[in-house]
Amino acid sequence: MNVRVRFAPSPTGYLHVGGLRTALYNYLFARSVGGVMIIRIEDTDRSRLVPGAQESLIESLNWSGIEFDEGPGIGGDYGPYVQSQRFDLYKKYANILIGNDSAYYAFDTPREIEAMRERQKKAGLAPKYDRSTMKNQYTLGKEKTKQLLDSAQKYVIRLKVPFSEDIKFKDVIRGDVSVNGRDVDDQVLLKSDGFPTYHLANVVDDHAMEISHVIRGEEWLPSTPKHVLLYKAFGWEQPAWAHLPLLLNNNKSKLSKRHGDVSVEDFKEKGYLPHALTNFVALLGWNPSGDQEIYSMEELIAGFKLEKVNKGGAIFDRPKLEWMNSMYLRKIPVTEIYKGLAPLLDGKGYSNLEQNYVLSVINLLKERINFTHDFVEFGSYMWQRPDENDFDEKYIKKQWKENTAELITPLIERFRLLGDWTKDAMHLLVVEYLEEKGLKFGAVMHPLRLMATGKPVGADLLTTLQILGKDESMVRFDNFLTRSKNGKL
Ligand code: GLU
Repeated sequence: MNVRVRFAPSPTGYLHVGGLRTALYNYLFARSVGGVMIIRIEDTDRSRLVPGAQESLIESLNWSGIEFDEGPGIGGDYGPYVQSQRFDLYKKYANILIGNDSAYYAFDTPREIEAMRERQKKAGLAPKYDRSTMKNQYTLGKEKTKQLLDSAQKYVIRLKVPFSEDIKFKDVIRGDVSVNGRDVDDQVLLKSDGFPTYHLANVVDDHAMEISHVIRGEEWLPSTPKHVLLYKAFGWEQPAWAHLPLLLNNNKSKLSKRHGDVSVEDFKEKGYLPHALTNFVALLGWNPSGDQEIYSMEELIAGFKLEKVNKGGAIFDRPKLEWMNSMYLRKIPVTEIYKGLAPLLDGKGYSNLEQNYVLSVINLLKERINFTHDFVEFGSYMWQRPDENDFDEKYIKKQWKENTAELITPLIERFRLLGDWTKDAMHLLVVEYLEEKGLKFGAVMHPLRLMATGKPVGADLLTTLQILGKDESMVRFDNFLTRSKNGKL
């Protein structure tokens, strides 16, 4: 079978991480079996359109590394991949359904529908279009229906759902699913303005574009019986269905903005790396091996099995995502981090930094941070000499005692004479000094860190000094000693 899958977003806002997971699973599946991946823009609901959303969705998908073979601006043999450019097609198919009695005209006004809902509510019934009491071609008869249609009366076309018949389908992830027609609404297929609803356009396009597998979120599961009926009514072969598990907050509620960021755009802005996000999202509902966590896109593709996706909701574990980002920060080439960091440093006004210098600092600190932007703050003393306010007061109190200046000054003098400003040469010198004085490492390393950086934590100090360079290190030591001498700490 030729595998053709699609990601079919509605341009109603930013790409949600749930949408990213759907796109990604479609992509992994297509690539794992040599199939075709399509993007189709489902913009039939004109009232929910957000200007710019289509562009932003596509940008987020590109950023995430998901590639499409067909779609708007990409090409393919199935006409435009934007539903608003295919409206005539849907109308034609709605009429086919009228012709074979799988759908019918209904003339109820919004007010009448509202009144029906009220009645049902009062009677404790689930809201559902009541075909037998409302104004439609069955209650009005053929003649009257024709008359109304000719008189340009507003109408919708509804799907004729067989009452009390089981609608059955197989879901790759969930197995056999069966719903009784009694519980399915006579869905509007064509609205009174002539626009199709999601259900009609979605099914017509999936058929027209020869989609072999519909892979989408669990929230679409209640729509599937309607789609199954549509396939039957048209006499078309159904695609394979696969409904992906919901994404949940830690407390098992549905993932929502109230619990933090949910859009790809947000994560991008917060400094997440694209592959860290896709790796994390790929494991929400599936894991190729069980205990491995870090996978390249190639590994994800090689291991993907649609039938191995879980049914149960997947917890969106934010600390794990952050951890994953830190793992990727250690893995990717430093030049890649540089590209993201350089504009941030510029923005902070840290100028005249040589690229090689910045690259060494990235190497020095990357094991200690989770985000590119952390380099700016965490490594502030590497971008600019700390001024008096940058010194951590508690650290001064703890590490700079009455006799520290006396103890450290001779060592600084030996540093001044050191020709080879490398961490190894400094190490030898320090060890010698400690032996001579009978001191422990910490007795000098903490004060040195304080003088050079002002901060209690950082990377290996001697490497830090090597990168700062001899001149800069000596200026920092001397400045500190002067402040100490003047009682200005
Ligand atoms: N347009 C729907 C959405 O926004 C597509 C659902 C489906 O994949 O059928 O998610």
